[in-house]
Amino acid sequence: TSFGFKEIPEEEKSRMVGNVFTNVASKYDLMNDLMSGGLHRLWKDRLVSQLNPFPGMKHLDVAGGTGDVAFRILETVNSIKRRARQDPLVDHFHEETEIYVCDINPNMLNVGRKRAIERGFGDDKSLIWVEGDAEVLSFQDNSMDGYTIAFGIRNVTHIEKVLAEAYRVLKRGGRFLCLELSHVDIPVFKQLYDYYSFSVIPSVGELVAGDRASYQYLVESIRRFPPQEKFASMIADAGFQKVEYENLVGGVVAIHSGLKF
Ligand code: SAM
Repeated sequence: TSFGFKEIPEEEKSRMVGNVFTNVASKYDLMNDLMSGGLHRLWKDRLVSQLNPFPGMKHLDVAGGTGDVAFRILETVNSIKRRARQDPLVDHFHEETEIYVCDINPNMLNVGRKRAIERGFGDDKSLIWVEGDAEVLSFQDNSMDGYTIAFGIRNVTHIEKVLAEAYRVLKRGGRFLCLELSHVDIPVFKQLYDYYSFSVIPSVGELVAGDRASYQYLVESIRRFPPQEKFASMIADAGFQKVEYENLVGGVVAIHSGLKF
């Protein structure tokens, strides 16, 4: 490549990704804020507003890490319930909301559990933490109203398997949403972004997390991830209908969505 990266062998790749999330679990949230300038918070807000969560929903957040997306879903559901309680005309919600946070790395989930307690969600039975692989989910067919994956699909070994599993566990009418770092196609902005990702991110990774190589690999993985249109067609190939995507910040990130009919 023009940046002179060598091909990285498969097992080395998973070690590096593993390292990032094991060694950095405790620093993970700080790194997100540092590297995105806090923007990841707005991107996750946007993801959850597209999901349109509702009380009683069964939701699966895959690669859920330290719970950022799940917390937002729960907050939305709780605020709908609070508003409903003040309105005598609105029926009460009887169904229990279930938000599953599934992640392959127990360290990330542990940080998530701690954060849930800090946020006052410690006693909330709606949040369920599950260790598991996006490629072979332990959930039943047609069991979920929604599926989200934020900054998770880029680093899995087989994207197709993840999409097939998402399709399998969703109910008919269920919604798939994926937030991921994507491709910038705007001249000048693209050059600035490349400079930022190939120079700044590895340095911040080295300084804050003491791990330059892993962050360099993460940047490389962004470049390797299929562009918006291609990823959209992979989602459609998995069986989803009405596949769409929205670019944020000129394609730095994209939100892809699809429906299971
Ligand atoms: N979704 C969270 C967020 O946006 O803050 C965490 C994103 S973090 C960049 C990626 C997460 O994917 C890590 O927690 C990692 O452990 C998890 N992960 C990687 N491969 C996975 C797999 N095959 N199945 C489930 N989770 C996986």
